[in-house]
Amino acid sequence: EAPRPDSSSLLSLRNAHFAEPQKHYYEIPPQIERGWREFLFDMQGRCYLDMVNNVTTLGHAHPRLTAAIAQQWSRLNTNSRFHYAAVAEFSERLATLAPEGLDSVFLVNSGSEANDLAIRLAWAHTGKRNMLCLLEAYHGWTVASDAVSTSIADNPQALTTRPDWVHPVISPNTYRGPFRGPDSGPDYLDDVAAKLQAIDQKGDGLAGFIAEAVYGNAGGITLPHGYLAGVYDAVRQRGGLCIADEVQVGYGRLGAHFWGFESQGVVPDIITIAKGMGNGHPLGAVITRREIAESLKKEGYFFSSAGGSPVSSIVGLTVLDILRDENLQENAQLIGDRLKAGLIALMERFPLIGAVHGMGLYLGVEFVRDREALTPATEETAAICERLLDLGVVMQPTGDHLNVLKIKPPLCLSAESADFFVKALEKVLGDGF
Ligand code: PMP
Repeated sequence: EAPRPDSSSLLSLRNAHFAEPQKHYYEIPPQIERGWREFLFDMQGRCYLDMVNNVTTLGHAHPRLTAAIAQQWSRLNTNSRFHYAAVAEFSERLATLAPEGLDSVFLVNSGSEANDLAIRLAWAHTGKRNMLCLLEAYHGWTVASDAVSTSIADNPQALTTRPDWVHPVISPNTYRGPFRGPDSGPDYLDDVAAKLQAIDQKGDGLAGFIAEAVYGNAGGITLPHGYLAGVYDAVRQRGGLCIADEVQVGYGRLGAHFWGFESQGVVPDIITIAKGMGNGHPLGAVITRREIAESLKKEGYFFSSAGGSPVSSIVGLTVLDILRDENLQENAQLIGDRLKAGLIALMERFPLIGAVHGMGLYLGVEFVRDREALTPATEETAAICERLLDLGVVMQPTGDHLNVLKIKPPLCLSAESADFFVKALEKVLGDGF
């Protein structure tokens, strides 16, 4: 291999040519070139515990996945135009994993594409355009998926620039929203009813509703009991379709459930997945009912050059095999419970921790300056993430106030690594930062 420029020259190259509006983290970021399981290694050979990676479900550089990809690349990889065993088998596997009746699969390359297509399916199937969504959510960067994304952490103009077919409801944040606690569902559903009535009065109908089943962008907050069931009923009464964005919460990350929507006891009309299903390889999918999929014909045929290519389908199949063979969903539950217990114990000692949200390996530690007023500890959270990097832990803030630690490690996280994270956080909070 030809020698690469050193780290600081590479940083100058990046600053000169990597377009500015793309998110980057850390003033002087470590140059990461290798990974193994839940660990990352920089050019100086320093090891970091990767606690933020919601893409690498299986862990980094998984040998079985690497071998499967290399073998398929050496045989064939081309667009998804022809008939390949892997495409047929992968589509069947996804349909089998989905609830009964959701048996039609579109393969794409990312979560944004999956949500864009899901919205287009809702438009095509209902002949309507209005979409209900949640405030503080993120669903992607394409035109339609961005339109239903209202997170001001990702786009400070999000609340003033949405198209007129987008109707956000109050975020059902049971920790800091206007209504609190797991039984606040009926209060939030009143807001949903009011928004739906406004759409009824506009007179041009409802296409659907999109939401995550666990409130991801706000830091893994569990929705109030009965919330999704209530919204799904009201949307379906108007002929709308319900889309579950499982890009982050699906695929076993919650531990107790393979799909996030199971935690709310609902069955969506359309499921979107990406991120973890490819373990870092660009892969996404939409799973829906046959009659909904067929509605898209009104707009012509769907085709994605690389979506569902032979290599992508082999990646998707192998990720599912490894998830099953290495019991990673069970590990997410076991280690997630241990990690959450460790973090709750820290909450008892450090008043800055206002709450520990989430389940499985989908957790959020929310920092507040005052447990009554819930004043977001935004600057403190940024400083804590910087200090954690010094201690060898990769961690980033999330939420509209950027005051929540986004804890989404690879599902192979070991008990030792979970304990290491809790100890590192304890040290940062104890030492001051
Ligand atoms: N939906 C959710 C819930 C996400 O978190 C993301 C990515 N952060 C997306 C959709 C978009 O996925 P992608 O980046 O693969 O386009």
